[in-house]
Amino acid sequence: MKPLIGITCSRQVGGAWGAYDTGHFMDYAFDEYGKAVLHSGGAPVLIPVTQDAGSIAAVLDRLDGIVLSGGPDVHPRFYGEEPMPRLGDLDEDLDRMELELTRVVLDRDLPLFAICRGIQVLNVALGGTLYQDIQALVDGALNHVQQAPKHVTTHTVRLEPHSMVASLLNRRTIRVNSKHHQAVKEPASELRVTARSGDGVVEALEWPDRRFTLGVQWHPEGTWETDPPSKKLFRAFIKAAGG
Ligand code: MN
Repeated sequence: MKPLIGITCSRQVGGAWGAYDTGHFMDYAFDEYGKAVLHSGGAPVLIPVTQDAGSIAAVLDRLDGIVLSGGPDVHPRFYGEEPMPRLGDLDEDLDRMELELTRVVLDRDLPLFAICRGIQVLNVALGGTLYQDIQALVDGALNHVQQAPKHVTTHTVRLEPHSMVASLLNRRTIRVNSKHHQAVKEPASELRVTARSGDGVVEALEWPDRRFTLGVQWHPEGTWETDPPSKKLFRAFIKAAGG
């Protein structure tokens, strides 16, 4: 049996065909997430934003692992800050849903692969904080918002020795894509920083001794077809979920 892997969505107003341009939200996830899960041995399932606590619990009863996907900025209210000028798009309903879902996933120790916004949701769910904008708040920051397409890697990440990522990939450094303007500031106490870029920005978080709790700030789903480390991370996640 293939493990069922839930993938959280983002939302935009209106449909792709432009027929409902006001007041109608559309849940979506880029298809790379589903493809990476499918080709790594899992069966992908999309999770819409419309959920309550009872529904989230029921959905998670039937799933074997969760991908928190990329998306808008987490509202700073959820980590005790007021909005700053460079804050990006927000969706507080999505924040509330993903934060609740993440807490239940962690309670149950379901395998969790938290990507881009996902690593930020993982950190905030456990009480950590974020930089609202890297360029404004981190001295000497690299360019983390690459113009190049998602399948192109643009900066280096150093992996912490004896971490799950380092042992899975058997490497000290990897090259990653980068499409984020926010990053983890204070990591939650349960989480270990296991990768950083050259400017010190947090690029991976792990909860040690769990089945699989990994957050990455890059987009391995954008490079899973060609990049061996991205393939290995997805495969290890699906394996932890029973695949
Ligand atoms: Mn980056």
